[in-house]
Amino acid sequence: MERALRLSAQGLFDRQVAELCEVSIGAVQKWRTGARRAHEDEDLRRHHSCPRCHGRDLDHVAYAHLLGLYLGDGHIVRCRKEVFQLSLFCGDGWPGLIEEAGQTMAQTMPTSSVSRRQRKGCTEVKSYSKHWVCLFPQHGPGMKHQREIKLADWQQEIVEAHPGMFARGLFHSDGFRGMNYVRRALPSGVRWYEYPRYHFKNESRDILALCCEALDLLGVAWRFNNRNELSVAKREAVELLDLYVGPKY
Ligand SMILES: [Zn+2]
Repeated sequence: MERALRLSAQGLFDRQVAELCEVSIGAVQKWRTGARRAHEDEDLRRHHSCPRCHGRDLDHVAYAHLLGLYLGDGHIVRCRKEVFQLSLFCGDGWPGLIEEAGQTMAQTMPTSSVSRRQRKGCTEVKSYSKHWVCLFPQHGPGMKHQREIKLADWQQEIVEAHPGMFARGLFHSDGFRGMNYVRRALPSGVRWYEYPRYHFKNESRDILALCCEALDLLGVAWRFNNRNELSVAKREAVELLDLYVGPKY
């Protein structure tokens, strides 16, 4: 079949191709039109890949997650004219996160393939598309904390519908779930207690505010530890957040 398609592409008539390949003319016609259709479908798919420009369906659950990952620790750079690279840097200690980040990218932009590159101590998960900037209009020069980060109305709607996935993205990129140890002096002696709590640290006040909003939507109590860090420490709040986030793995 490949030889026949190659000969057709060189301009031979179907009859000539059929003779050279010792198959029927019908078979050559079928292969040729099938290949053209597949090519056209692929073309159409690639050129209508953007939920914003072309109205392609967007997986909102995956997008809410990816938006959290991107705002936490993602980067978009222009790599060729009109083509942008979205990168997430995931620590090598978290193979589950590397896997999940790649899946989330692929679900959000199914027409672009996802690749990985080993860096020092971490893995860069990346994908190329002309349209990453349409999905992340927060893209801009410089660091995220040096510019205003405000969600577009359509992004806000998605986050409000899926605050748990958004929080998962934020906490898994720029936060963590750790153990807190507390010393108590009791009449029977000194006892140590441990309990889990979440931290989220980010230099951008806007991104911190988005994290707080998502936690409020989930009904998870939080408080600021520092100007750039918040924590979730109450037992029932941690249990609730565990349903959506959980430890990195
Ligand atoms: Zn677009």
